[in-house]
Amino acid sequence: MAASTQLVCSGCGKAVDPGLHVFACPAARAGDDIDHVLVRHFRPDASRHDAAREAHQTTAHSAPTGCSFVRYRHHLHSYQQAVVDGLSDDGFCARVRRIDDRIFELDRRRFDVTPLTAETTLAEALGLGGALWVKNETGNVSGSHKARHMMGLALHLEGGEATGRLAIASCGNAALAASVVARAIDRPLDVFIPTDADPLVVERLEALGANTVRCPRLPGQTGDPCYHRFQEAVASGAFPFSCQGSDNGLTIEGGLTLGYELSEQLAALGDDADLLFVQVGGAALASAVVQGLFEAQRLDLEAVDSGLPFKMPKVVTVQTHGAFPLARAYHRLSRRLLQRLEGVQLGAEDLAAVDGASLLELYGPANAAQNLANASRLMAAWGSERMSSELSFAATHRASFMWAWEDAPHSVAHGILDDETYDWFAVVKGMLRSGGFPLLVDEATLVQANALAVEHTGIPVDPTGSSGFAGLLALHQAGTLPEGARSLVLFTGVDRAYEAKGR
Ligand SMILES: [Zn+2]
Repeated sequence: MAASTQLVCSGCGKAVDPGLHVFACPAARAGDDIDHVLVRHFRPDASRHDAAREAHQTTAHSAPTGCSFVRYRHHLHSYQQAVVDGLSDDGFCARVRRIDDRIFELDRRRFDVTPLTAETTLAEALGLGGALWVKNETGNVSGSHKARHMMGLALHLEGGEATGRLAIASCGNAALAASVVARAIDRPLDVFIPTDADPLVVERLEALGANTVRCPRLPGQTGDPCYHRFQEAVASGAFPFSCQGSDNGLTIEGGLTLGYELSEQLAALGDDADLLFVQVGGAALASAVVQGLFEAQRLDLEAVDSGLPFKMPKVVTVQTHGAFPLARAYHRLSRRLLQRLEGVQLGAEDLAAVDGASLLELYGPANAAQNLANASRLMAAWGSERMSSELSFAATHRASFMWAWEDAPHSVAHGILDDETYDWFAVVKGMLRSGGFPLLVDEATLVQANALAVEHTGIPVDPTGSSGFAGLLALHQAGTLPEGARSLVLFTGVDRAYEAKGR
């Protein structure tokens, strides 16, 4: 049986031979400036409605339940590859359930569909004119959405021949998720952590059997020292058990389940959203959710029987004032695009030079109406020859758009301070295609948003986890939230201090 999915590099276009177990583009060469990221595609010859029907044998309009990785298995490349390798459908489900059961023993949580609720009390407290939907990931495995990415990788590892150690650079939710899932599949894990890592987190990582490696910032070194050490480990043969799509394209796959859940849940509630506020650090979350939502739209996931088209919300990406490499990259690319759409001929060197202070103003909440207007023009040009050629230029000139943030950043939302937006290209494309834009939020708003979120929803979300909501709050307070807009936000990580009290 042929797989209906295939890995294709979004940078160079290389299609990976079916049956080959790889996680990074085989055509990547050091210093080639191409944005090699493997992306799972449905093969053009696979019938989209068959794939969608296979995946959703439930009644239209019923809310999704049960294990997400069983429910959406047909969409996973790990599933398609396992079937090609001779595993039965039942065999794959048994594999998922075995890992999920082991995770439950370790963590008392499972990969069941997480709640999506209308938070009317919070919306009323703010005086929002439109609905507010919150997807609550704080009760997911290990207390955050990160575990979805790791489970997606675990399913590849269980089906492949990769042996040896796993590696990740993180001091927070990603490391906690990795250590739970690695333990569940009995794989040794090295976690590269900063010298000021939270002792609570380090204790939990070590209790789960992970090997922690402290990485001091070396004089003259730019970029995250933990990430440098992680890359060295991967170069020496470790498997990247991480959330950076550029190191391991397969990490996006598990996160797609979040997008699929959202589309089905909104359909079951008979609603949709105008704006999706999503926090961005390394961008695996945003990349996965956006891709999952677009696939749901393309595959008519929930509309197979109901005939209702799924409406894609505009994707508003939220970063802090501490570091905003994504807004910088978006600015450079969108300025080129807007010029090209007016017929201006551009050379490779035509790149907007703009400093951090100007970017803070350009992508602050007060300027959102202008950004929304630009975004609408760009969305209208999606698919045009001019836009496609500019996107190809960006994919093959990565260093002109994305580079490591120069200063060591600080924010209360410390989980989204990645100094590089690894999966930037997928997320910028998601903004362009959906009519969304980047938004930069200050510290006071991040703090206020977290307090409001906890008080009015009762969800023990931490300030990183509510930073997407801080974007919504910022627009509302600046008077730039479109009238009556229905908003969707993701509460991504639990407050660890709250969780420690409960244990
Ligand atoms: Zn490539």
